[in-house]
Amino acid sequence: MIPLQDIYHARNQIYDITHVTPLMTSNQLNQLCQNQIFLKAEHIQKTGSFKIRGATNKVKRAVADGASLVTAASSGNHGQAVAYIANLLGVKATIVVPEDVSNAKLAAIKGYGGEIVYCGTTSHERIPKAKQLAATHNGIYIPPYDDPLIIAGQGTVGLEIIEQIPDVDAIVVPVGGGGLISGILSAVKQMKPTVKVIGVEPETANDTFLSLRNQSITAISGTNTIADGLRTTQPGDLTFPILLKTLDDLVLVSEEEIKQAMVFVMERMKQVIEPSSAVSLAAILQHKLGLKDRKIVSVISGGNVDIRNLDKLV
Ligand SMILES: *Cc1c(COP(=O)(O)O)cnc(C)c1O
Repeated sequence: MIPLQDIYHARNQIYDITHVTPLMTSNQLNQLCQNQIFLKAEHIQKTGSFKIRGATNKVKRAVADGASLVTAASSGNHGQAVAYIANLLGVKATIVVPEDVSNAKLAAIKGYGGEIVYCGTTSHERIPKAKQLAATHNGIYIPPYDDPLIIAGQGTVGLEIIEQIPDVDAIVVPVGGGGLISGILSAVKQMKPTVKVIGVEPETANDTFLSLRNQSITAISGTNTIADGLRTTQPGDLTFPILLKTLDDLVLVSEEEIKQAMVFVMERMKQVIEPSSAVSLAAILQHKLGLKDRKIVSVISGGNVDIRNLDKLV
């Protein structure tokens, strides 16, 4: 696990830049789920997702170490977060994106002041490119999840939850590469080990589910889930051991269940959330946790959807 003091240190690094996000509730949701549900609203976080927490912690260190450039290989929430924080701290950000990147994502990165480099269509092509750009321009490559400073930054979500609801029973978290959940596990299991932490993956992006079952990192060949932030094909070398040792449970949700959860939050709670973040609520709405009369936090990890595509998503 990441030491608790590293997560407190991360909070000191990010508190003047990120929001302490609120918890949202709905009586209707409580009745439907037969539990008390709190949505941890990272969809209204700066840049629209929790990724700004880890990115800020990591980019601040890079700047302190003398970097004049940071690079990332993500066109999604991580790339946007890196572009935003680099701009704020006055260093250049180069974001390597796939040739088929959507206009909405491009506009977001450019809007935050990031420079775009196109490269291939897979992360196997983009990551070496981003690392090479960093190496040749006095820069530092910022990984999306498999890095102690990134994990510590995401862990501040766990600190906040324990402070906001000291008697929380369970926390439900979307799982992609595992940075968010391994940060939350590190915070929660050292502060209050009786709190259950439960991961959720789409059925078609079940790499962490399979890895846990095999007790070793297992890759899947690829996935087209609408939860585009969870399309990683294997858990990280740093994140996976934390999950293997401390995770309480991991459940799977279907594409249809993800869409239903998005529609529920839009209709009843008037919130736009993205598919990747809807998986945690989907698991709760489908009664997949086996919990009753408990206080459960559903981490709503992000809200970045292309509104023009919303009708296709739901
Ligand atoms: C990145 C991301 C995730 C997954 O986080 P990991 O740290 O890769 O597990 C979940 N939801 C959203 C909205 C994301 O951007």
